[in-house]
Amino acid sequence: MSPLTQPLARLIQQFERLPGIGPRTAQRLSLYLLRQPQEQLEAFAEALLTARRCVGQCEQCFHLATAPLCDICRDQRRRQNQICVVAESKDLLALERSGEFHGVYHVLGGVISPMDGVTPDVLTVQALIQRISRNPIEEVILALTPSVEGDTTSLYLAGLIQPFCPVTRIAYGLPMGSELEFADAVTLARALEGRQRMG
Ligand SMILES: [Zn+2]
Repeated sequence: MSPLTQPLARLIQQFERLPGIGPRTAQRLSLYLLRQPQEQLEAFAEALLTARRCVGQCEQCFHLATAPLCDICRDQRRRQNQICVVAESKDLLALERSGEFHGVYHVLGGVISPMDGVTPDVLTVQALIQRISRNPIEEVILALTPSVEGDTTSLYLAGLIQPFCPVTRIAYGLPMGSELEFADAVTLARALEGRQRMG
């Protein structure tokens, strides 16, 4: 690599570190950005750094938030006594796109996967149980990806939650292993509607 192209190589490397971006896409994005006007790149960099600085985690549900509580937890029109448990914020966003859910959420931060070092204590499980034990919750809906890890996590959570309130699990029209975030709005709406009581 000649010294002249080193800055470009560094930029490509940064893109390659992003999820879902392979070497060719990283190169394409880098070359595209280099053709853009200086002001646009400055706006891009500024938006990125500002978002990083201002966006934190909701104290209650662990979704992204710009205040102690996220927009959903603060919204009094939503059913605060119905909690939908998702693995990640991207799954929450997918369910919001379906427009079918009017309760609130709890973002676990992943699913239990001991092989990858993900045990219940590194997830927000304890905060979830505290939240349920301290508030009058009518239903907890488990909306985890249908996979071995997702199912293990659902069964584990159901056992912990059932002493406090009814637990349901969304009914998937999805094959095992499919990601919630890629399911279309209609499929997710049906999955929510067809949810079934556990235990
Ligand atoms: Zn929240």
